Amino acid sequence: MKKYPIPMVPGPVNVPSAIFAAYQFDYGSADLEPEFLDLYNKTEELLQKLLETKNRVAIQTGEGMIALWGALKSCIAPGDRVLALSTGLFGSGIGEMAASIGADVKTLSYGYDQTLSNYEEIEAAIVEFKPKMITAVHCETPSGTLNPLDRLGALKKQHGVPLLYVDAVSSIGGTPVLTDEWGIDLLLGGSQKCLSAPPSISFVAMSEKAQQIVDTINYQGYDALKPFLTAQKDFYFPYTPHWQGVAALSTAVQLILDEGVEACFQRHAGIADYCRKSVTTMGYQLFPGENAIPSPTLTAVCVPDGIKWAELDRRFRQKGLATGGNYGALAEKVFRIGHMGSQADMKLLDQALDVLEKVFKSI
Ligand SMILES: *Cc1c(COP(=O)(O)O)cnc(C)c1O
Repeated sequence: MKKYPIPMVPGPVNVPSAIFAAYQFDYGSADLEPEFLDLYNKTEELLQKLLETKNRVAIQTGEGMIALWGALKSCIAPGDRVLALSTGLFGSGIGEMAASIGADVKTLSYGYDQTLSNYEEIEAAIVEFKPKMITAVHCETPSGTLNPLDRLGALKKQHGVPLLYVDAVSSIGGTPVLTDEWGIDLLLGGSQKCLSAPPSISFVAMSEKAQQIVDTINYQGYDALKPFLTAQKDFYFPYTPHWQGVAALSTAVQLILDEGVEACFQRHAGIADYCRKSVTTMGYQLFPGENAIPSPTLTAVCVPDGIKWAELDRRFRQKGLATGGNYGALAEKVFRIGHMGSQADMKLLDQALDVLEKVFKSI
């Protein structure tokens, strides 16, 4: 396997050695040793600080998709109504996932280069469709956009919608996620994006309402949230917990808190701003639309005219730069520079920009 000297893929990101160190230890059995429970409880507390929430956080083995599936299956019974808000691949994908488990899904789709702004239409859909759950994505990673979420919670409360489900996998740790203030009932995160740990752990912050529904739905399965309602109290996990993974996540969150969350968010915002300005000056075109909010965690750029993505990617990699391609409707058209977590680093970005500039001139 080749390791590129300039890693700018939007997750999994480069893992710093201080976080990797958690994997170098031969822990005992997480099922039996009280030290694991202490670590789990401490990690939950650290996540609660970062996520601005008092809610219980379930920490599961597996990367982000486990949280996305587990939270849907744990809260939705066949026939339940789900209103999926989509400004991109994950937003639409979550609607398809909910449909695949039998939900009655209505998807409000906006352009993949847009961010949520049409709250009148969203409110009308809530009133008419009466969903049990609204789903939204904070950072749409394929589009490089950041949806504002502050108004959804108010609409949810006003119209008595039980659950607001938010995929914040690629924003947590890179920009504020105000779980309680925004009224998020199911806040989903993963270890391998801005937190800069390996792709091994996901987590879900569950409101009281979400916990009640998880208990009632009583979904059983590897990704089920129900066992996590009592895992700490009973010191009984549904499977052998991934001690190394939780230790790495704990270190990762601690590093952000030590840096200072505000300083960390400022670092991301500054890097993103500099990246967007630099690439546009070179002649690249940004993907997010004029009125859309770009994410501070990555920059999505249009593949320039006159070159195919495969060739562009080959030229980047020849000079040591790994960026991310794309999927679905954006495949071949948009590529991504992931400046999240350990990769939100000015020195690294400058190296990446140097390659981006040389390659642009070669087209
Ligand atoms: C990365 C990501 C996920 C999780 O996908 P993985 O398969 O765990 O990498 C979910 N949602 C968003 C928006 C993501 O960027």
